[in-house]
Amino acid sequence: MKKINLAGQEVFLGNIFCIGRNYLDHVKELKNANPSEPVVFLKPSSALIQTGEMIRLPDFSQDVHHECELVVYIKKDAFNVTQESAMDHIGGYAIGLDLTARDIQNQLKSKGLPWTKAKGFPTSACLSHFISPEEVENINAEKFYLNVNGQTRQQGNTEHMMFSCAYIISYLSRIYGLQAGDIIYTGTPAGVAAIQSGDELELILSDKISTKFSVA
Ligand code: MG
Repeated sequence: MKKINLAGQEVFLGNIFCIGRNYLDHVKELKNANPSEPVVFLKPSSALIQTGEMIRLPDFSQDVHHECELVVYIKKDAFNVTQESAMDHIGGYAIGLDLTARDIQNQLKSKGLPWTKAKGFPTSACLSHFISPEEVENINAEKFYLNVNGQTRQQGNTEHMMFSCAYIISYLSRIYGLQAGDIIYTGTPAGVAAIQSGDELELILSDKISTKFSVA
């Protein structure tokens, strides 16, 4: 079982949930329809890498995109929780990348098939360490950035999420159930683009987290 860094402590990783189409500007750039409920997919835990490990591009894709996202750590089981109590289940926040083989995803979408091959390859879930929720005054107004080779490619603010953290946790708790150790990638803003071998990616969560990943 994989372990992840939560405020300096090692904790076990559970499921990796991801929310798609949660920022309107990104929905528009990919010409997708607005979702009426969260779009949910999962990545295998073998997809996860943390600061210090390198991104490896899969040989079956020619177009791997970065998607910079706020990531939430679930510290206690959640089944059928309300939005009001949802935030009590959060054990930390991190910044991460939901790497996506866009060419493969487009092929799968056109056939009506699941996206797993496009989203689940090794190193496709990049993750910083988690900070404790007490360090974040208002998670619904946090800025985050992705710089590639020193240039800002994505900038987001969690205030633009169509489904808030509380809504997502309540929703996932009703439809799937959440367990301690699960993490949730909460969706990406506009600006997604391809990464290449040799690129240096810097992920920033306001003034709280800054981490780097290189592409092998
Ligand atoms: Mg994403």
